[in-house]
Amino acid sequence: MSPVIHQISSDKALPESGDVVVVGGGIVGASAAYFLARRGLSVALVEKGYVGCEQSSRNWGWCRRQNRDARELPLANLSMRLWEELTKEIGHDLGFRRCGLTYATNDPKRLAEWDKWREVARRFDVNTRMLTADEAAAAVPAAGGKWLGGVYAADDGKAEPWLAAPRIAEGARKHGATIHQNCAARGLDITNGQVSGVVTEKGLIRTSAVLCAAGAWASAFLRMHAVSLPQASVRQTALRTAPAPDFGEAVYTSDFAMTRRLDGSYTIAVSGRATLEITPQGIRYVRPFLPMFMKRLKAVEIGIGRSFFQGPETLRRWHLDRPTPFERIRVLDPAPDKRMVATIMTRVKALFPTVADAGVVSSWGGYIDSTPDAVPVISPVDSIGGVFVAAGCSGHGFGVGPGIGHLAADLVAGDAASVDPTPFRLSRFTDRSKIEVGDF
Ligand SMILES: Cc1cc2nc3c(=O)[nH]c(=O)nc-3n(C[C@H](O)[C@H](O)[C@H](O)COP(=O)(O)OP(=O)(O)OC[C@H]3O[C@@H](n4cnc5c(N)ncnc54)[C@H](O)[C@@H]3O)c2cc1C
Repeated sequence: MSPVIHQISSDKALPESGDVVVVGGGIVGASAAYFLARRGLSVALVEKGYVGCEQSSRNWGWCRRQNRDARELPLANLSMRLWEELTKEIGHDLGFRRCGLTYATNDPKRLAEWDKWREVARRFDVNTRMLTADEAAAAVPAAGGKWLGGVYAADDGKAEPWLAAPRIAEGARKHGATIHQNCAARGLDITNGQVSGVVTEKGLIRTSAVLCAAGAWASAFLRMHAVSLPQASVRQTALRTAPAPDFGEAVYTSDFAMTRRLDGSYTIAVSGRATLEITPQGIRYVRPFLPMFMKRLKAVEIGIGRSFFQGPETLRRWHLDRPTPFERIRVLDPAPDKRMVATIMTRVKALFPTVADAGVVSSWGGYIDSTPDAVPVISPVDSIGGVFVAAGCSGHGFGVGPGIGHLAADLVAGDAASVDPTPFRLSRFTDRSKIEVGDF
């Protein structure tokens, strides 16, 4: 079941041409469209389903610098500023709150990792402090629970996944962007090695610049044009309760993490637990992903699902004048794992019985797209002039979505980059760079 989200209208006429076409209306595509249109460029945002329909509405909404890989910290710092800027400029609540993130655990290894991360925090000026056992118990008052300790990131926060991407896209429209939903981009029109248009199911848009912000579909989209983007997806389950008593805004425990929504309900999921489905694309990219699989093996269950045959990870090819997989699967909406929903609720019942008593209102699945080093790709595509990609957010792209969109807009517009794009270049997977698997 898809989470209920703020749906927006589409523009009626597909433009014949534009400065930039953005493919994909998640948090990344919507933010990029916003920052491009704000610079005065004519932008068309094409989305095969509806804006925000995939990962960007299925996440917990954490806007986090805490425990983030150092390569992403400049992007995360930029994003925290942009969330505030966007809220003011758009004039609508995106649910962004610097409510603080609280982590509590009984695992000494985890505690030591958090303590070690404070060195990164110091380098990037992140306001974070370790919690003693008593402080953790006061901050995360679980029934009969005692914690060994915790960590508190005072200036980090959360936003509303059901509001953010649609409202940012609407903001882009105020700056002149057009938005086209139920409008899959089938592929690129390329002339002499330079992009000259995007073929959509509703017609051709002539353009000299395309940003592929297609989330879990980015690799498939680019593969049709002989561009290799190593990408793998895992499936996660999350649920939402009815409004419940307040036990904190954004709380992480080893058992589950919970985020309070604006209406007082909680989104709850188990951090890091996911199912990896074996797919033809997965088999193709098994080598670059081996280090990550080895690092995360314990947290991942392996299975074969429907995605072996269809969806973003098939290796089937298609024709631009006929319906494509993007139209056949308008919204990637995997079923939630019922066993996982039951496990989460048993754990919630043990720690926060009154939250469990509120009951489950909905649950959903979501595919998380990852790169081999768990760091996004925000980069020009060297082999086709005018083509750029911003994808592979690796399970933590919502909070940094505005920053990714901003950096992508810098690259597309040829402006000075707001943060150093080097760690995010696509060529790192082919230029013999050492691939280091990032922290989540
Ligand atoms: C359960 C869960 C919890 C998470 N928790 C967090 C969290 O707390 N904090 C955090 O920072 N991140 C979190 N994430 C990760 C975060 O949601 C993603 O990293 C982020 O939303 C990715 O944004 P995106 O715009 O790249 O992709 P998406 O939101 O997936 O958007 C891509 C869009 O492209 C469209 N598209 C694809 N192909 C085409 C095509 N050919 N033509 C037109 N449109 C196309 C798709 O329909 C889709 O809407 C979580 C993810 C999940 C699933």
